[in-house]
Amino acid sequence: LELKPVRFDRIVQESVNKMQMLAEVKDVILHAEIDDSVPMNADEERLHQLLITVLDNAIKYTQEGGVIRVVCRKLAHSVHLEVEDTGIGIAPESLPHVFDRFYRGDKSRTRQEGGTGLGLAIAKWIVESHGGKIRVESKLSMGTQVLITFPI
Ligand code: ATP
Repeated sequence: LELKPVRFDRIVQESVNKMQMLAEVKDVILHAEIDDSVPMNADEERLHQLLITVLDNAIKYTQEGGVIRVVCRKLAHSVHLEVEDTGIGIAPESLPHVFDRFYRGDKSRTRQEGGTGLGLAIAKWIVESHGGKIRVESKLSMGTQVLITFPI
């Protein structure tokens, strides 16, 4: 990792801007509420990759007309990021495996869209190598929430 002081709010905003076009093409609404945050010591390139992975999944697994909400909050000693979608969701039996390398959910395997099943495994590695935590909550056919916390 190449650690230097970076503004997490800016990385989130830039990533959302970058993915906005893809969301529009899929007719998915992508909106973000982002608190100003203080600098944190992090690898900017890696955090960017993390955001793109999570946003790309949210867009990929949400049908047209769906909504993705990104919330970034700054607390006294941490920053919290939540990416919530109204997509296909994840079956309870699949949920414990989403961070496994090469794991792809049933519906993902049968879709034409590519994917390696490495995205969330790498995302977890990036979060944990910054001392953070990541978890996924989901209800099948209702949507998915990815929750990430970093200490600052
Ligand atoms: P890629 O490596 O290209 O991201 P992938 O999306 O299949 O491929 P992961 O990002 O590791 O791989 O995700 C693992 C599995 O978790 C997916 O195959 C999918 O079943 C499920 N998943 C991840 N994010 C979501 C989401 N937002 N909504 C529904 N299912 C999801």
